[in-house]
Amino acid sequence: MDLALKIDAIGYQGLVRENVSMKKYCTFKAGGEAKYFAEPSNEEELKQLLFTAREMEVKTVVLGNGSNVLFSDAGFDGLVIKIGKGFSEIKIFSKDEEDLVIEAGAGALLSAFGNTIANESFTGAEFCCGIPGSVGGAVFMNAGAYGREMKDIITEVTYIDPKSLNIRKLTNEECEFGYRRSVFEKEGYIVLSAMATLKRGNLSEILNYVNELKNKRTSSQPLELPSAGSTFKRPEGYYAGALIEQAGLKGFAIDHSGAQVSAKHAGFIVNVGGKATATDIYRLINYVIEKVEERCGVKLEPEVRLIGF
Ligand SMILES: Cc1cc2nc3c(=O)[nH]c(=O)nc-3n(C[C@H](O)[C@H](O)[C@H](O)COP(=O)(O)OP(=O)(O)OC[C@H]3O[C@@H](n4cnc5c(N)ncnc54)[C@H](O)[C@@H]3O)c2cc1C
Repeated sequence: MDLALKIDAIGYQGLVRENVSMKKYCTFKAGGEAKYFAEPSNEEELKQLLFTAREMEVKTVVLGNGSNVLFSDAGFDGLVIKIGKGFSEIKIFSKDEEDLVIEAGAGALLSAFGNTIANESFTGAEFCCGIPGSVGGAVFMNAGAYGREMKDIITEVTYIDPKSLNIRKLTNEECEFGYRRSVFEKEGYIVLSAMATLKRGNLSEILNYVNELKNKRTSSQPLELPSAGSTFKRPEGYYAGALIEQAGLKGFAIDHSGAQVSAKHAGFIVNVGGKATATDIYRLINYVIEKVEERCGVKLEPEVRLIGF
């Protein structure tokens, strides 16, 4: 019996779909099909998926908003679990003259989380407003921008360990946040929700700052084209975009596939017209790594999570 039928048979009809294209679920607009795909609406469904997949020896991978992943054209020969709407509640726990304590489900959009905090007149999460990920993906990646990252605001994370199916909480220190990494990446834990504490600020100053960051992004990043944001991690002491530019690759394309180093921001690889395949993009990523190392002596490392390559 296959996984979809098994999940149907135990009472979760239609929860698992088969042969689902990942293009629609990833901001790169490329990639093949997931053999199985499910978007659970609650923890019970998630647990059932993890339990049954393990029992049937089906590999699993978690997807948030798909803004930092590239699936290969061959796709993923297992179950993709999207943590989305079912886990997207944003709850204010307490609010006073000084602090706001807020919790967001892992499937909530990071921008919605940032905007809720800003509109309540609390400061510190303005950087979240322009990052197109989910709260879970942002915690997993320790996403950040303009000098701040998730580790600066998160106080506690609730996660599920896919091996034991136990749900537990970790404090900020226990999350082992580092540059674009966390314990969730190291251990394969699935983020369910995150709690943050923010300081009260001046509403108009906060909203102005949100706008200022938005304008900075729009003027410096190719937001009009499919991408996964900065393709490479920032190497210590350098900026990936500057190195790529120095290597003469700003605006570079190997062919007419659509995969191109952005002419606006060399740190972004874009998928012009959404017509490049994952293979085209992957080839360009490797080409850039090779040329930057050859010409600048620095080896770039992808920030985008490559799945199935
Ligand atoms: C235009 C653009 C601008 C961007 N700007 C920034 C920026 O300024 N700063 C920045 O840091 N990033 C930026 N990014 C990258 C991306 O938005 C972030 O890395 C974001 O945190 C990824 O979240 P996601 O939900 O889309 O994760 P996905 O892309 O879906 O997944 C990324 C990784 O997280 C894992 N994951 C996702 N959800 C969970 C979960 N609930 N539990 C466990 N693991 C999970 C996945 O398995 C995968 O390995 C940008 C991307 C784009 C397209």
